[in-house]
Amino acid sequence: MSEFDQLVDGYRRFKSDAYVRQKARYDELASDGQAPPIMIISCSDSRVDPATVFDTTPGQVFALRNVASLVPPYEIGGGLHGVSAAIEFGVMGLEVRHIVVLGHAQCGGIKASLEGANLGHGGHSFIDGWVDIVRPARDKILASASDDPQHDLELDAIRVSLKNLRTFPFIAEREQSGQLKLHGAYFGIADGHLHILNDQTDEFEVQ
Ligand SMILES: [Zn+2]
Repeated sequence: MSEFDQLVDGYRRFKSDAYVRQKARYDELASDGQAPPIMIISCSDSRVDPATVFDTTPGQVFALRNVASLVPPYEIGGGLHGVSAAIEFGVMGLEVRHIVVLGHAQCGGIKASLEGANLGHGGHSFIDGWVDIVRPARDKILASASDDPQHDLELDAIRVSLKNLRTFPFIAEREQSGQLKLHGAYFGIADGHLHILNDQTDEFEVQ
């Protein structure tokens, strides 16, 4: 069976099991539309699926995934702002009440920031350009006596994305009025631990 056949096979299991069990939920979501209370920004990494890690139900989470779960700063100049468009729709269209930036261990995007993407195709690297978002944080870590720059940057990248979220005027306003809360989280993969950023101490705490 090919990898794609396995995928379609998975759909058939879903359709005859989870879909049937949640039919009423899907019917309600289809007729009333989605109103997820939470937006999660996570990495494209296949090991860090937010629906799996948080055991969510359909309609609960508006998800955005990209390389290293990064948020760029608010900017309206040229370019195709896919991340900003998703954030705009989540906050202003769906009026989510929480945004979670979920980073993770062994992140290839963070590794690319430290070492370059080095994919060997010789052309322009979109990854190198994208992870430039965390370059100041990376330079600071590399200039420090960090024992584990990869881990330190994985955590700092979450702090950078939260800071960048606050540069969007509609997010800053909603956070100030208490309509929106921002959260940082980190998934350990190997140990299965979830760490949540304490905004008082700016440190991650295992749950
Ligand atoms: Zn990653």
